[in-house]
Amino acid sequence: MTSVAQPHSASITAPTRGHHQTVLDELGMPRDPNNLYLQTIDAVLTAADIMGLPRHLQLILAQPKNEIMVHFPVLMDDGNYRLFKGYRVQHNNAVGPYKGGLRYHPHVSLDDVKTLALLMTMKCSVVRIPFGGGKGGIKCDPRALSNNELMRVTRRFVSAIAPQIGPDYDIPAPDVGTGAQTMAWFADTYAQISPGVPDAMAVVTGKPVELGGSVGRDKATGQGVIDALAVIMPEFGLQFKGATASVLGFGNVGGWAGKLFEERGGKILAVMDHTGGIINKNGIDTKALDAHVAKTGGVAGFSGAEKCSEHDFYSTKVDVFIPAALEQMITPERARLMNCKIVAEGANAPTTPAGENILMEKGVEIIPAILCSAGGVTVSYFEWVQNKTQSRWSLDKVDNELNRHMTEGAHRVKDNRAKYKVPVRTAAYIAALENIGAVYKLRGIFP
Ligand code: NAD
Repeated sequence: MTSVAQPHSASITAPTRGHHQTVLDELGMPRDPNNLYLQTIDAVLTAADIMGLPRHLQLILAQPKNEIMVHFPVLMDDGNYRLFKGYRVQHNNAVGPYKGGLRYHPHVSLDDVKTLALLMTMKCSVVRIPFGGGKGGIKCDPRALSNNELMRVTRRFVSAIAPQIGPDYDIPAPDVGTGAQTMAWFADTYAQISPGVPDAMAVVTGKPVELGGSVGRDKATGQGVIDALAVIMPEFGLQFKGATASVLGFGNVGGWAGKLFEERGGKILAVMDHTGGIINKNGIDTKALDAHVAKTGGVAGFSGAEKCSEHDFYSTKVDVFIPAALEQMITPERARLMNCKIVAEGANAPTTPAGENILMEKGVEIIPAILCSAGGVTVSYFEWVQNKTQSRWSLDKVDNELNRHMTEGAHRVKDNRAKYKVPVRTAAYIAALENIGAVYKLRGIFP
C-alpha cells in the first residue's frame, strides 16, 4: 500500500473517544484518569473502534490472561530474612509465547506491570515477531542489594514462578534494574529445576553472549529508534543530515540512539539524565559523552557542553525529541516547554496523556514506543531463534534483520496514519490490532 505524506496536516485529528466505554463498563473497570493501565487500554480500544476490531476481541484484550503475584523470603547478608513481592503478568499469547522484561524497582506495582505487558503485546505485533506480551517485576531497590542478595532474590523468584513460564510459553528479558547477569542467574536456576525441559536456557533472552545471548542486543533498541525515524522523518520533510535532537536519558537506549543519530549526520544539542542537563548548540560529541558517562555515571560535568537547567533542556528548539529515561516523564508542564517536530519514544510510555494532548495541539507528532522502542524485543526474538536452532548469527545478519522488521513496522504505521487519518500512536495500535485480529479470526475462540 502506498501512503500520502501528511506533514502536520490539519486532517490528522485526535480520535474521538468513547465507543468502547461499554467494554470497560462490562468488565467493571473504574474511570480513573490517573491510572496508567486504564489510560493505555482506553487508547488501545479507541484504535480498536476505529479499525472495527470485534467487540469480543476488545473484551479479551482489555484484561491480561494471567496476573501472577508471589511473595517469597530471601536470606539477606546480615543473617535476617526479608519477604519480597514479585509479579508476572501474561497479557496475551494468541500470536506466540508471552514475551517481556523483568524489572527490579522500588515502585513496581501490579497496574504498571499490567500496562507494560499490554504494551508488549502491541509492540511484538507491530513489528510482526511471533510473540505475545508479558512483563514482570520484583518490588525492590537493586542498588541497595549486594550482588549475592540480588542472585538469591532472582533464584528464589524463578523457583516461585517456574511452573508458569518456559521457553515455549513465557520468555522474560532484562528491563530497568536488571541486566545480562540477572538473566544468567535466571536461566541457570530455571535449567537446574526443570531437567525435562529441552532448550531450558532459552527461557530468557538478553543473556550474556557466552550463554547464548545475541550479538547486537546492546544497541538494538537505540538502533530501532533510528530505523523508525528513517521512515517517519521524511513525512515531516526531515532527514538525518542537518537534523537536530535532544535526548532525555543517556543510558542504553538514549546513548545508542544519540550516537547513531549523530553517525547519520544529525546533531544532538541537549541531553539530560538523573545527574542534570547539558547543552551545546554546535552539537554534542556523543561518543565522548558516552565515555564520560561510563566513567562518572552521568552526563553532569561533561566538558564538551554547558550545564543547563531542566527548563532550558525541554525548551531547546530541535527537530526530534527522544525520551529514553523513565515512564511518564513528559508531563503537561514539560510538554508546554517542548519545541520539536517529532517525539521518538525510546522509553516505554514516557508521555502522559495530558502531555500528549498538549503536544498534539502544538502539531508535534509522537512515534509511540510500541514501534519506536521495538528494536530490543526484536533482537531478543533473534536470540530465541538462535537458541532454538543451536546457531549463531553474525552482527551483519542481526542488523539487517532488525532493520527489516523496524522498517516494515514503520511503513505499516505510516500507511495506517494516512488511511485512517489518525495520529501515529493510534496508527501503531491499529497496525498491531490488525495482526492480532487476523490471528484470532483464524484460531477462533476455544472450545
Ligand atoms: P538505563 O538504565 O540504561 O538508562 C536510563 C537513563 O534514564 C539513564 O541515563 C538515567 O540517568 C536516566 N534517568 C533516570 N531517572 C531520570 C530522571 N529523573 N531524569 C532524567 N533522566 C533520568 O535504561 P535503558 O535500558 O536505556 O531504558 C530506558 C527506557 O527504555 C526504560 O523505560 C526502558 O523500559 C525502555 N526500554 C529499554 C529497552 C532496552 O533494550 N534497554 C527496550 C525497550 C524499552
